[in-house]
Amino acid sequence: MSEQVERLKTLIIGSGPAGYTAAIYASRADLKPVMYTGMEPGGQLTTTTEVDNFPGYPEGIDGPTMMVQLQQQAERFGTEVRIGMVTAVDFNNEAGGIHKVTVDDNKVIEAESVIISTGATAKYLNIPSEQRLRGGGVSACAVCDGFFYKGQDVAIVGAGDTAAEEASYLANICNKVTMLVRKDHMRASKAMQHRVNSLDNIDVRYNTEVDEVIGEQVVEGLRMVNNQTGEKEDIAITGLFIAIGHKPNTDIFKGQLDMDDTGYIITEGKSTKTNKPGVFASGDVQDKEYRQAVTAAGTGCMAALDAERYLAAVESKEEVSV
Ligand SMILES: Cc1cc2nc3c(=O)[nH]c(=O)nc-3n(C[C@H](O)[C@H](O)[C@H](O)COP(=O)(O)OP(=O)(O)OC[C@H]3O[C@@H](n4cnc5c(N)ncnc54)[C@H](O)[C@@H]3O)c2cc1C
Repeated sequence: MSEQVERLKTLIIGSGPAGYTAAIYASRADLKPVMYTGMEPGGQLTTTTEVDNFPGYPEGIDGPTMMVQLQQQAERFGTEVRIGMVTAVDFNNEAGGIHKVTVDDNKVIEAESVIISTGATAKYLNIPSEQRLRGGGVSACAVCDGFFYKGQDVAIVGAGDTAAEEASYLANICNKVTMLVRKDHMRASKAMQHRVNSLDNIDVRYNTEVDEVIGEQVVEGLRMVNNQTGEKEDIAITGLFIAIGHKPNTDIFKGQLDMDDTGYIITEGKSTKTNKPGVFASGDVQDKEYRQAVTAAGTGCMAALDAERYLAAVESKEEVSV
């Protein structure tokens, strides 16, 4: 490890809507934030073409453009955006303590406050036809993209509560929803299963998996395979939704921060405070419930305000509540 050590007031980890909103607020509050973008500058929205539900864009906007605009807005107030991946952290337990963060295994940052906005990664099936058609009809977010398939036939893969909820959401918008469940039963709660089964336009196929997504540029159909009989069946669809879960990007914080059993960072009450004073978490990394750009941005704002209040309290030597 090199000897370079840099001291910062506020470090922001991650460059999605949560990170950039935190950066806008933190830089306007003179917290002099530095942001490390991680491997996916701009975050999850850079993997989607149309964002139609973020307030302020009456005609909608494509995800990558929106994220460039958020970056420009944060830079306008002085945020320094750097390419780099945080590879290790050593958070201080004391209020007013200095947090050590290692970037790209070779640069050490000493930060008075840290805002974590490393997001979550949607899981995909990882078969070639699905990967090729991501953004061309294959999506991991029904609430985000379902509207584009209004009145059309779609399919959804998954068997948990989120899949059941997203299938019900799609059933309200789409003509028909085929739901592929790998096992002979769903994992979803009985109540969610009941909701799915009560909707006439959801066709649940048990013991069924995706064999291939059909289409060159856009999704035109789905080849399903029954994993008991090997029998294949083609259906015509225009959208395929993958609802097999998300993985929060929290591996580097394990052992440092309190997390739930699926690895999401636990924050205190309505705040963005973690169990370490001066370390705050915002966006999808601490929210498995809503997972939207606007909610991530909202908690990014909260994290910057929480950091500002924390630093002010530390500076004035008030007792800091953690
Ligand atoms: C296909 C798709 C379409 C979507 N469409 C919409 C939509 O239309 N409307 C909507 O509201 N929501 C949509 N969403 C959801 C939305 O993208 C997320 O809710 C939102 O991006 C979460 O923001 P975030 O800032 O918490 O994290 P993310 O956007 O997940 O960003 C995380 C950031 O953290 C960085 N990072 C991770 N690990 C590290 C590390 N170790 N060091 C440094 N940086 C790191 C990554 O590089 C990335 O920049 C969609 C999601 C998907 C997958």
